Amino acid sequence: MRREFPRKVKAAAIARAAGHCERCKAALKAGGAEVDHILEDALGGEPVLANAQVLCGPCHKEKTAERIVKIRKADRARDKASGAIRPAGKIRSAPFAKPDKPSRPSRQSLPPKLIYASRTTP
Ligand SMILES: [Zn+2]
Repeated sequence: MRREFPRKVKAAAIARAAGHCERCKAALKAGGAEVDHILEDALGGEPVLANAQVLCGPCHKEKTAERIVKIRKADRARDKASGAIRPAGKIRSAPFAKPDKPSRPSRQSLPPKLIYASRTTP
């Protein structure tokens, strides 16, 4: 869940920016300011003024694209931690002869979804 900045923090950030993008320094159009999380809230950034930056539209778009890359990276790290990706630990026991790649461990361990279980009556 995204934690948006409180209105007070947004107003303070916009006042601090004094009409200019805090990244590229371009003059902001009226209503064109985007208050952005410096450290993404999904990554632990707090919705406070110190974590707020006022961006123009193009900078905000750029930042959003960067954020998507970061979040995808975080997703991959989580998959590794949860075991969806096999950890590299096994290699230690056989450093010389790599065994054949094991088949992907992801699917088999999960039971089929009940939603798709067939019913006896149509
Ligand atoms: Zn900008």
